[in-house]
Amino acid sequence: DATIAPAAPSAKGNSSASRDIASYLHPYTNFAAHEKTGPHIISKGHGIYVTDDNGRDFIEGMAGLWCASLGFGERRLVEAATKQLETLPYYHTFASRSTNPAIDLAEKLLELVPVPMSKVFFANSGSEATDSAVKMVWYYHNAIGQPEKKKIISRKKGYHGVTVAAASMTGLPGNHKMFDLPIDRIIHTETPHYWREAQPDEEEEDFATRLAEQLEDLIQAEGPETVGAFIAEPIMGAGGVIVPPRTYFEKVQEVLDRYNILFIADEVICGFGRTGRMFATETFRLKPDMITVAKQLSSAYQPISALFINDKIYQAAKKASDEIGTFGHGFTYSGHPVAAAVALETLRIYEEDGIVEHVRNVMSPFQKRLKDLNKFEHIGETRGRGLIGAFELVADKCLKTPMQPVGAAGKAVVAKCMDYGVILRALGDSVAFCPPLIITEEQVHDMFDKVEAALADWHESLG
Ligand code: PMP
Repeated sequence: DATIAPAAPSAKGNSSASRDIASYLHPYTNFAAHEKTGPHIISKGHGIYVTDDNGRDFIEGMAGLWCASLGFGERRLVEAATKQLETLPYYHTFASRSTNPAIDLAEKLLELVPVPMSKVFFANSGSEATDSAVKMVWYYHNAIGQPEKKKIISRKKGYHGVTVAAASMTGLPGNHKMFDLPIDRIIHTETPHYWREAQPDEEEEDFATRLAEQLEDLIQAEGPETVGAFIAEPIMGAGGVIVPPRTYFEKVQEVLDRYNILFIADEVICGFGRTGRMFATETFRLKPDMITVAKQLSSAYQPISALFINDKIYQAAKKASDEIGTFGHGFTYSGHPVAAAVALETLRIYEEDGIVEHVRNVMSPFQKRLKDLNKFEHIGETRGRGLIGAFELVADKCLKTPMQPVGAAGKAVVAKCMDYGVILRALGDSVAFCPPLIITEEQVHDMFDKVEAALADWHESLG
């Protein structure tokens, strides 16, 4: 995802560190800076904690990359993987071939999803799921004889991954610059960030109305007959944890319905309990035609993602694939049996351990402690929902003036939090929290006590 603060260097002269520098090209990393700092090597984990190769423990306040929902030591997932590896370590699902874990998982997902969905397609990452959604939008509109209706609208600051189409939908300059993106037919509408984007005296619901009108204007300008789909994260993650203003999605949905535009809910972060419901589609009463999930689907113990499609899309795709002879899309590892077995076991744990109920209990103290951070002079906004949140650092609280240079304060605060034993994530000058869903109330307090100490320290260092 977007910007990540440079890691704390592992011990100098550590041969792993020099070998890393010599050989490993890191994702989302400043290569030149990395050659100086070296990697921060994490060597083990348990519960909500990870341990680095210097033996330091950290609370993983981001569940890795918004994903390790059950923490870092869930034995049942190890056993589920081992059992499947011993039975059938791999098989594919092309051309009607199937495996029981893939069947069981697809069926279970359809049982859990809160809106009518017809089928589940599997991939390996969030990017592959959203990219597959793009291809499905195009396939569908060709199938129903509307080959013009191909443009996809996403949002500035939205995050949908990094493959060519997914990165194009991602609305962050860092994912476009130097890569010649976005590709044709992918366009961006405004960010629903009330605190930052609303006009003075504009009420939250009026802001939502204005954004829906701007979306409609964009559709009109492009030509409604050319717009095939709209994609949105229920809560924007990598763009800064942006919670939509009240009534936003219902107003957007009305616009989409008016022009027959498909709605793709990207639940790669929100799916499986993060917002206090199994799906954020319930939390925000969305009516998507497709849903993408990944990350918490397997608690990140195996790479797996899924794309739900509704029956309207399935029926059109069925007809077209029959005419052509096949649906020409799929991955070697679509429905990988080990990943599917681990995902299934993850979903069982969510149900048996009442993880969503647990989130609902622990999210109140979490959100309260987050809100309390507003007492700091340079925190302009705290925002969140369920067990996800962020605070935004500003130079001037009343004027909301950004810190200068942009991004430096976010990195500095995240580094301070590391000193106090908490791993968080800088998204520009917003700092994100997305702890494992298993975090206890006591651990929430411990995490925020440490973050407050780090923030006090950082404020003091400003003089
Ligand atoms: N969609 C959303 C909402 C995401 O947050 C992410 C990853 N942060 C992706 C898609 C892409 O997932 P991946 O990194 O697994 O490709």
